[in-house]
Amino acid sequence: MSNDRDTCGKCGEKSIIKGDIGLRTSRDKELIMVVRQDHGVEKSVPLQTSVCCQCGFVDFYVQDPIHLKISTEDKPINPDFQQRPLLDADF
Ligand SMILES: [Zn+2]
Repeated sequence: MSNDRDTCGKCGEKSIIKGDIGLRTSRDKELIMVVRQDHGVEKSVPLQTSVCCQCGFVDFYVQDPIHLKISTEDKPINPDFQQRPLLDADF
C-alpha cells in the first residue's frame, strides 16, 4: 500500500490538494471521528481526507492509526461492562 499522500488513489496523479481538508456538518463544527469500540473500550481519532484536484476523488485516512489499538491498560467506558453474547437486538 502506498504511503504517498500526494498521489491520487484513483487516477494516480500527484494532484492531492494541500492543507487540512476536513469533513463537517453544516450546523456544528465538530470533527468527524473514527471510533472503535471493543471490549467496552472506546478509542477515537479524527478522520482526515484527501481530495484529488484532477478527478475529484476523495479518500479517507487517519493520522494516528496506532491510537485505535486497544491495550490492557485501557479502561472500559462502562465499569460494569461484561462480555455477553451478541443478540439480534444489537443490530
Ligand atoms: Zn485523481
